[in-house]
Amino acid sequence: MSPSERGMGDHSANDLSRRARAVEVSPTMLVGQRTLALRAKGETILDLSVGEPDQPTPPHVVAAAVTALGAGKTRYTQAAGIPELRAAVALRYKKDFKVSFAESEVGITVGGKQALYVVSQALLDRGDEVIIPSPHWPTFSEAVRLAGARPILVQAQEKDGFRVTARMIGKATSPRTKAVILNSPANPTGAVIDPDDLLVIGDMAQRRKFTLLWDDTYGRLTFERTESGALQALRDAVGDRFVILGSASKTYCMTGWRIGWVLGPRTLVDACAALISHSTQCPAAFAQAGAVEALTGPQKFVQDLVAEYRRRRDYIYGAISALPKVTCVEPAGAFYLFPNVARYLSAKVPTTLELARQLLEHKKVAVVPGEGFASPGYLRLSFARPMEELKLGAERIAAFLGELGPT
Ligand code: PMP
Repeated sequence: MSPSERGMGDHSANDLSRRARAVEVSPTMLVGQRTLALRAKGETILDLSVGEPDQPTPPHVVAAAVTALGAGKTRYTQAAGIPELRAAVALRYKKDFKVSFAESEVGITVGGKQALYVVSQALLDRGDEVIIPSPHWPTFSEAVRLAGARPILVQAQEKDGFRVTARMIGKATSPRTKAVILNSPANPTGAVIDPDDLLVIGDMAQRRKFTLLWDDTYGRLTFERTESGALQALRDAVGDRFVILGSASKTYCMTGWRIGWVLGPRTLVDACAALISHSTQCPAAFAQAGAVEALTGPQKFVQDLVAEYRRRRDYIYGAISALPKVTCVEPAGAFYLFPNVARYLSAKVPTTLELARQLLEHKKVAVVPGEGFASPGYLRLSFARPMEELKLGAERIAAFLGELGPT
């Protein structure tokens, strides 16, 4: 209990709000901190914990931002983003996913994270429930909590390839269900939602009156042919109950630029812009100019990126799933592998949190324990790393598990 709750009136800056005290620090960050500490001591760490591409931003995108800086694009922009970028996002979705949104139905945010944050703030009230299929990216549940609402986790099963089905969502709905967050391809499993399941979930959204928040941060990083047209079919079926949360971060190797977006009904986009106008105001003007180039310029870069990730996925999936007593779903998208290593847990290494800690200390390989995604028993390995590192990482993981021995 904080001093002010005890009525002691200590209003120092150490007396944090309930909200701040309730935020859970992600184990991803803990792994990151320990990796940095070991590096500071001169250790070389193979970092397979990262959630960002290892390639640099394409040069033509960098050049566009530099030109924008030289041209004086150094001022505030509209809170919903510059009109050129809003139009570029709408056009990109039309071309890539055959789904139509007007420029006024697009809002630009400081990364996909802010898109999720402001949409949660704009939509949710205390008492509302938001269904989140798990294993899930922890920011989904934290953003819901920060808006005062309740995350309701539903478990996708490894034996079903972590497939999210309408049945699973249906069982978790209640009259308080305000939204369902769908992430496809998913972080951390790489699972892609089947278009048929999506339409059935859409039908349920319409009948039970909730909103679908579709996080497609990894939407263009898929390794199988995806049926285009599914998103427009969903939009036709559910109309204003469909909201897309997206980002330039992973597709264009622009994580540090902080450009994301929300596509949805104008009322929601305007409400997000109002919230943004009182917080960050806008992403940097020259970063927005760079993002226009990324979205409207040549797209071959993205195809090459996907081809490279597919090559890495094939390697790492092959290497890790071949380990004794390790099971693993082949990721259909994104750049994460989520193997089940529960058979290696024992009295000595009782959790994957501890297993990841020992892997880092003894073999200098950083991975994220499943606990970070509400899924103990698993590890998340990022393959957004050069092939040589993946090979070395796989060898060290094999050696480490070999020493532990399955139980
Ligand atoms: N959604 C998912 C599923 C993610 O994994 C991430 C990044 N880890 C984001 C959104 C947000 O990324 P950014 O803020 O860089 O756009």
